[in-house]
Amino acid sequence: MKALRSLTALAVIQVPILLGAAPIQVLIVDGQNNHKWEFTTPVLKHALEQSGAFEVKISTTPPKGAPASAWQDWRPVFRNFAVVVSNYNGQPWPEGVRADFEAYVRDGGGFVSVHAANNAFPEWKAYNEMIGVGGWGGRNEQSGPWLYVKNGKLFRDLRPGPGGAHGPQHEFVVEIQDSNHPITRGLPSRWLHCKDELYSRLRGPAENLQILATAKSDLTAEQEPNLMVIHHGQGRVMHTTLGHADYSMLDRGFYEILERGVEWAATGQVVLTEALPAEFPTEVKTSIVTLEGHPKQAAPAAK
Ligand SMILES: [Zn+2]
Repeated sequence: MKALRSLTALAVIQVPILLGAAPIQVLIVDGQNNHKWEFTTPVLKHALEQSGAFEVKISTTPPKGAPASAWQDWRPVFRNFAVVVSNYNGQPWPEGVRADFEAYVRDGGGFVSVHAANNAFPEWKAYNEMIGVGGWGGRNEQSGPWLYVKNGKLFRDLRPGPGGAHGPQHEFVVEIQDSNHPITRGLPSRWLHCKDELYSRLRGPAENLQILATAKSDLTAEQEPNLMVIHHGQGRVMHTTLGHADYSMLDRGFYEILERGVEWAATGQVVLTEALPAEFPTEVKTSIVTLEGHPKQAAPAAK
């Protein structure tokens, strides 16, 4: 009986906190990707909604090769959302949608770029400013410096070379580089992330950008950024390079940085998603999220 009473007391304390704030409105954009967006968008949605802090809607672009009329019908109203999460890497958006999105972020909308969303739109200047750095799509030294961290210092390498590389997928340790930011405050300084691609040699304008976390690349032997924040006009951007597949995202570390990053991009603070799950990964042990029906993707064997 005593245990029951204390449980009830706990519920009474916690419920008003969660009900006190209206959920943050989030729009996930998907529809084209060289990754299996049909499998990963539901994981992104689950990661956000299970926190209780967000209400998530999805806007799916027309598929590759769709007629112009299909694109005319795709016009998400970004300003109805506090934050837009991109799981998109495909054809350029129509000019009107690009203009809407630029105005949305410039005027204070939140934006979160996940994994291959930083491969998208190499020709779109404002988009590259928003993500700070990106990879592939012909990116090279003309796109901007390669950013990496060594001994806690940021390097901006302007030597010629392609932007974007990764080796075989593997588990790797995420290392916090700045624990004073709302997104990283209180997180363990190092944890083992589930099998993923470790993006390296990302290049871009890298203005108003802060690196929050890195991982040591098997290709470059440098600490490559995997969690960044960028200020673009009045807008806040969180950029994570993590999340190649659903099994990469079903990770309590990934869930936590996504929740925190989306809240921060929306509001500039991390309050609703601050609490850490009991089973946070450690430096030697991943912590896998169970989601019914997932993973749908099979991880490649270890090399
Ligand atoms: Zn990938």
